Amino acid sequence: MPDRRNLKDHLIHPAFSQIGKISDQEGTETYVVGGFVRDVLLGRKREVYDIDIVTVGSGIDLATKVAASLRPGLKVSVFKNFGTAMFRFNDIDFEFVGARRESYRHESRKPIVEDGTLEDDQKRRDFTINALAICLNSDRFGELLDPFDGVGDLANKLIKTPLEPEITFSDDPLRMLRAIRFATQLNFIIEEKTLTAIQTQSNRLGIVSKERITDEINKIMLTPTPSIGFKLLEKTGLLAIILPEVQKLKGRETRNGIGHKDNFYHTLEVLDRISKNTDNLWLRWAALLHDVAKPVTKRFDERLGWTFHAHNFIGEKMLPSIFDRLKLPLNEKLKYVQKMVSLHMRPIVLSEEEVTDSAVRRLLFDAGDDIDDLMTLCEADITSKNPEKVSRFLSNFQLVREKLKDIEEKDALRNFQPPITGEIIMETFSLQPGREIGILKSAIKEAILEGEIHNNYEDAYQFMLTKGKELGLAAKA
Ligand code: ATP
Ligand code: MG
Repeated sequence: MPDRRNLKDHLIHPAFSQIGKISDQEGTETYVVGGFVRDVLLGRKREVYDIDIVTVGSGIDLATKVAASLRPGLKVSVFKNFGTAMFRFNDIDFEFVGARRESYRHESRKPIVEDGTLEDDQKRRDFTINALAICLNSDRFGELLDPFDGVGDLANKLIKTPLEPEITFSDDPLRMLRAIRFATQLNFIIEEKTLTAIQTQSNRLGIVSKERITDEINKIMLTPTPSIGFKLLEKTGLLAIILPEVQKLKGRETRNGIGHKDNFYHTLEVLDRISKNTDNLWLRWAALLHDVAKPVTKRFDERLGWTFHAHNFIGEKMLPSIFDRLKLPLNEKLKYVQKMVSLHMRPIVLSEEEVTDSAVRRLLFDAGDDIDDLMTLCEADITSKNPEKVSRFLSNFQLVREKLKDIEEKDALRNFQPPITGEIIMETFSLQPGREIGILKSAIKEAILEGEIHNNYEDAYQFMLTKGKELGLAAKA
C-alpha cells in the first residue's frame, strides 16, 4: 500500500492541480473520491476512465470554471436534475458533484437530496473503500480523508458499508449487487453484517431497473473468476430473483444409489475455465447457460440412470425469454448464445466415438464461423474429477481441431454456399420450380457433408447429373 502521506504523487494528472487552484479561488473545498482513490491506494494498475470530484459547493459551477481554464471551448455536460456536471479531458471523464446529504423513500431508489458537508457526502457512499477522499486544495493537496477506516478495510480486503448495512441496502438495493461485483472484481470478502443485510434485504431488488441489474451481472461476468460473484449471488438469495433458471441448477439427487453432479457448481467451473481463455462476454454467457435446461429435462431411468435428454435444444429455446427479461440484446448476440448452447454437446459426442470426417464436416457446417468458440466452450465443459478422462477428452478434441483444419482447407465449409444453385438445376433439366429442385439441392449438400464429393462446382455438377438420371430427369443435350 502506498505511503498515505504522499498521495500527491498520485495526483499527477494536470487537471487535479487545476481543480485545486480554481477551488481555492472560489473559496470551496474540493476532493477526488470514489474508485480513483480506492484504486490508487490498492496499487491497482489499470486504465483510468472516470474520476469523481466532490466539492462543498456547486459541482456545476466548479466544472464549468475548471473546463474553461483547462481548454477554451471544452464541452461540459450538465445534469441539472442531479446537480452534476462532467467533461472529458485527455480521454478521462471528470464527474463533478456538490457534497450532499441524502434521504430515501421506501418505494424508490431516487433520494431526496440536500446540500451537505464532505462527511455527509462520504456517508451516503456505498462502501467504506469507496468513501475515501483526497483533498485537492493547494494547501492540503494530497491529504487523505478517511472517516470510516476505508484504508483498514482495503488492507483487510473487506467490503463494508459506512452506515448500518440494512438501511444502506434498503435505501438503494443496487448497492447489494455492487457489493458482490466489487467482491468479485477485487477478490474481497463481504464483511459479515453487510452480507447478512444483503440476505435480509434481497427482496428489495424489485425496485431496481433490469438494465442496472444486468449491467452489474455483466461486470461480474467479465472478471477473471466470475464464480466468486455467482456463489455470493446464490448465497444471498439474489440469484433466485435475477436468474431463477440458474439457481435451479443447484443440488444433487440420488436414486438407487446413483447420483448426478451438482450442475450449479459444474456450471461455475465451466464459467471460470472459459474465462481463462476468452474475454468474449457472450461466450461467457453461453457457459453460464449451457446446461440451463438440465433441471427441466432431468429423468431417472432404471437402465440408464440420470438423463438430461435434449437439454441443449430445450436450453436454446429457453434463452429468448431469459434475455428478454434481463434486457439483454435480442439480436445476433442472442442467436450466437443459442447456437453455442444448442451445439455444446456435439464435439463431446463426436470425440467419444471415432472422429469421422463426415461428423466433423457436419459440425463445421452447423457452427460456421463460430466453430472455434464452440470448441473453447466444449473444452471448458470437461470438468471431470478423473484426470485420465480429462486428458482423453482433451486429446480427442485436439484431433477434432486438426480434422476441422484439414477439412476446412479442402472444402471451405464454414459459410457453406451451395456450389449448384436452383437456377442451374432448372436450366440443366429444363424444369419449372418444383420439388425436384429441393431434392437435388439437398442431395448435393448431403454428398458434400458425407465427403462423397468435394465442395466445388465440377464435382457437384457431375453428381447432379447422376442423381438427376436416377430421378428419371433428362439433361438438355
Ligand atoms: P469503477 O471502478 O467501477 O468505476 P467506482 O467506485 O468508481 O468503481 P462508480 O460507479 O464509478 O464506481 O461510482 C463512483 C463512486 O460513487 C463510488 O466509488 C461510490 O463512492 C459512489 N457510488 C456509486 N454508486 C453508488 C450507489 N449506488 N450508492 C452509493 N454510492 C455510490
Ligand atoms: Mg468510477
